[in-house]
Amino acid sequence: MNALNDDDLVFVEDEAAQSETGEDAGHWRILVVDDDPGVHEVTRFALANTLILNRPVTLFHASSGAEAVALLRAKDNIAVVLLDVVMESDDAGLRTVDIIRNELKLANCRIILRTGQPGQAPEAETITRYDINDYKTKSELTQNKLFTTLTAAIRSYDQLLRLDANRRGLEKIIAASNQFIVEQGLQTFAEGVITQIAGLMGIEPEGLVCAAVEDNPLDKSSSQLRIIAAAGQFRHLIQHRLNEIDDPRIVGALTEALEQRRNLIESRNVTLYFAKTPEKGFAAFIDSAIPIRDVDQDLLEVFCTNIALCAKNIDLVAELRSDAFFDRRLGLPNHTALVGEIDQRLAMAPDAGSVLALVDVDQFASANDWLGQDYGDALLEATAQRLRERLPSEAFIARRAGDGFAVVGPARVVNGEHVQACFRTPVAIEGVHQSVSISVGIVPLAKGRSGIEYVKDGYLALKRAKAAGQGQTMMFSEDFRRAARERAHLLHDLRLATARKQLFLTYQPQIDLKSGQIVGAEALMRWRREDGGLVPPDCFIPIAEHSGLIVGMGDWLLHTSLLALQRSRAAGFPDLRMAVNISPVQLRQPDFFEVVAEALRQTQSHPANLELDITAAVAGGGLEPVIAVLGRLRAMGVTVAFDPFGTDYSALTYLDELPADRLKVDHRLVGALEQDARAARAARTFIAVGRELGLKVVAKGVENQNLLQRVIALGCNEAQGYHYASPMLEEEFVAWLATQRRIHS
Ligand code: C2E
Repeated sequence: MNALNDDDLVFVEDEAAQSETGEDAGHWRILVVDDDPGVHEVTRFALANTLILNRPVTLFHASSGAEAVALLRAKDNIAVVLLDVVMESDDAGLRTVDIIRNELKLANCRIILRTGQPGQAPEAETITRYDINDYKTKSELTQNKLFTTLTAAIRSYDQLLRLDANRRGLEKIIAASNQFIVEQGLQTFAEGVITQIAGLMGIEPEGLVCAAVEDNPLDKSSSQLRIIAAAGQFRHLIQHRLNEIDDPRIVGALTEALEQRRNLIESRNVTLYFAKTPEKGFAAFIDSAIPIRDVDQDLLEVFCTNIALCAKNIDLVAELRSDAFFDRRLGLPNHTALVGEIDQRLAMAPDAGSVLALVDVDQFASANDWLGQDYGDALLEATAQRLRERLPSEAFIARRAGDGFAVVGPARVVNGEHVQACFRTPVAIEGVHQSVSISVGIVPLAKGRSGIEYVKDGYLALKRAKAAGQGQTMMFSEDFRRAARERAHLLHDLRLATARKQLFLTYQPQIDLKSGQIVGAEALMRWRREDGGLVPPDCFIPIAEHSGLIVGMGDWLLHTSLLALQRSRAAGFPDLRMAVNISPVQLRQPDFFEVVAEALRQTQSHPANLELDITAAVAGGGLEPVIAVLGRLRAMGVTVAFDPFGTDYSALTYLDELPADRLKVDHRLVGALEQDARAARAARTFIAVGRELGLKVVAKGVENQNLLQRVIALGCNEAQGYHYASPMLEEEFVAWLATQRRIHS
């Protein structure tokens, strides 16, 4: 075989040895395959000290196809193979090409075939099929020709590599974009940016990301720039100000990129600028131990734009996160965050003895109604502030909803005594010191249940605390959960009860105490279950009220009782009055007036024969609408009785404002007249206030002659109770009326 026949051949050392130590980083790697040692030597001479596309060359040598394949398996990044066609066999070269392309899958590697004679040239089809770069006879490859041939091949190899890098880069950008959306916060994001840029450039991640400090986003002086992420040797610089870095190269590059809002690409580092908004952005400085390959500018541009968009999304996601987990109004974690906190505490330390306390401000709704929402807001802010100030920092404080707060922490910190103690002294609300009372429901946390379940338990305890009065604390008990479950079952059954017609009415007569005449009746609802058992109204009426079922049930009662009244009229008792209990939920319905008017019209009843019994609870939703609708109904002729519950003396305060005709004295209060001097005083006060306001007073629960005498003595006008009759079914009631008429005629 012919050796190269050019003139100025210079001897070079075997550079393959260097590559093992990595010293050929940035060199073009060329593999010379020939069974003629002279060819190797001549090639070495020809390429000594040669730079191709500004980079040196490292030669590898193989003297057979098999050796070449072994070497290609062992070495990466061989840019060009200078391959003899005829070696151990006539087609050893072409077989090597086949292995390179099909077995080793080295698609980028350029192949230049060299043959001794023109006759050994491969078919054109073979050249195309195997992507052979060039074909030269050895005699053609003078030093100059070798240089130009290799330069063309290496340029092509480099372009293929860049295409590859671009593809990989774009894939990374897409993957990164997806990943960044779910990342939490700018720091993780910025760390990702360093890794991505380094990956794109094929270098180790060494760099830092810098942004203007939050409160001064437009000042780009190095003292106002903060390092938000760092990787590699720069890791320790995270959170430092840029001017604290003792490297003018980095400080200069980052400041310049941020000030001029542009990318700076140097031979051993790049500084990329990412614009989040026209004014705000951040910059990443990436260092490289080796000269940075001429990375496609376009790719970096695409990367910067895409990642800047991601950064914008990070801010949006951060805002969404904050909205999802944070109550901006009071600056406290919200219900979702509370549930997450409990779950996290239980997952990390299930036996730590943590406690959840749910806190409600007593009378918040009425304070909000009476004193306005601004006052309500100030009250909530003051409550949050007080909890923050008085409870130790290890207590996690959250706002659940409305006036509901929650505290989670160790039992020694979070207990009824400590939480209540926060409000022992008055709280400043709108500049005035006022007493705030809270109700607290306590639940110890232990493994086995989830955060959401514990909050539900806490709520049950809190409800009990509130029911016990103001300023109370209640510890959760399993009984609360059981009772709640029973109520849920009862509600389910009650829904079916209305459809299955299990509800019916009973009527209890009312007597005028002066004349002894029967003046009316109270309609009382009953529920008989499928098994025949009666459910007391005290059990199902509150459930009906809470669920809203009472509205439909109340309409039905109104119609049914007025129809019964019509039938009693037909039976010869024309002047009776029907008293129906009206729940506050019914009264607050916007069409309540129309519902009553329609019932009167449909049953052809006279409004004066209808009495609506309302309780003190109507004041809960604000008195004004109640006063308005009752005023309209009274103007039509309907009468109203105020029927406060038990010994709730505070109900008397509404009496003056509510338009009413009668005051009913609760059977508990009347019953207590026989036993308790204090109750007797309370009953007397009730009756006196009613009379003072010009109301007729009705004593309920008159069970015997003794009580009758007492209520007469106290000045009551009417009475109702077992002494006269128990609540009866309609037929019984009509029969009872007939009997009474016979007796008294
Ligand atoms: P209320 O309006 O105070 O009804 C009087 C309750 O006292 C009735 O109980 C009645 O059966 C009972 N009672 C009657 N006479 C005597 C007596 O001499 N001594 C004693 N100790 N009790 C007597 P009931 O029917 O169990 O109703 C309980 C409560 O349930 C009622 O108290 C009322 O608040 C509510 N309720 C009953 N029916 C309805 C209704 O249709 N709608 C609404 N919203 N509430 C109803």
